[in-house]
Amino acid sequence: MDLFLGIDVGSTASKCVIVNAQGQVVARGLHATGAGTAGPRLCVEEALRGIGLASVEEVASSCSTGYGRHLEAWTDKQVSELSCHAKGAAKLFEGVRTVIDIGGQDAKVLSLSEDGKLVDFVMNDKCAAGTGRFLDVMAGVFGCGVSDLSELDRESTEVAPISSTCTVFAESEVISKLAAGTPIPNIVAGVHESVVERTYGLAKRAGIKPVVAMTGGVALNDALRERLENRIGHPIATTDDAQFVGAYGAALFALG
Ligand code: ADP
Repeated sequence: MDLFLGIDVGSTASKCVIVNAQGQVVARGLHATGAGTAGPRLCVEEALRGIGLASVEEVASSCSTGYGRHLEAWTDKQVSELSCHAKGAAKLFEGVRTVIDIGGQDAKVLSLSEDGKLVDFVMNDKCAAGTGRFLDVMAGVFGCGVSDLSELDRESTEVAPISSTCTVFAESEVISKLAAGTPIPNIVAGVHESVVERTYGLAKRAGIKPVVAMTGGVALNDALRERLENRIGHPIATTDDAQFVGAYGAALFALG
């Protein structure tokens, strides 16, 4: 059986997806990127192990994407994460025209043509606000995991707004609110609204056309995604595998 491998070396997490000749996912791996090439290698090994393969030599073709793709010189192709997210999303979400991708260190909004081709994008990669990093920092202040933020938000009774847009100042603001006795769920709601506002700004610049889909690790935060749906006024399609969409797109590029 011919297999095709995609690896997305993100700033935070490295993701690997292996597809068969029909483009169906047969294996996946995920590992913190960390420094150097150990994280990416471990995510590839995890995916290979999942289908009993010993080495990347056994796949027919491979493609790397993500900010660290240039370190993966063993792959046959290297394709930008914009193209890979667009390709993966177009295959996963029928009729998708707008893809909101929020990862560990940047946020992007992609515009796709009717036939699923990337036509334009806007991006925030200058500042941690509005990215997964912002949420990771805030989760650290609350003493919880980033995956707990959604449930906390659901317990909120009102939004405690965060006025600082800078992550460092916003962190101080959160600490002050905690010290003043503001309930954590309400602060979490404020943190989420702050990310929503940044994302809405990007999406408005890009132009919001339905179907709208969300990819990247932050899409796993259901409460944040629902707040974003309310703000932009469209339902947002996603998948439990949102973090793998770039790697999936890369695997589809490897397939050709
Ligand atoms: P990158 O490609 O830049 O490494 P990812 O798309 O992998 O980024 O997303 C990483 C971000 O996703 C993390 O910074 C974190 O904020 C968020 N994230 C990861 N897992 C979860 C989860 N289970 N629930 C909510 N957020 C998550």
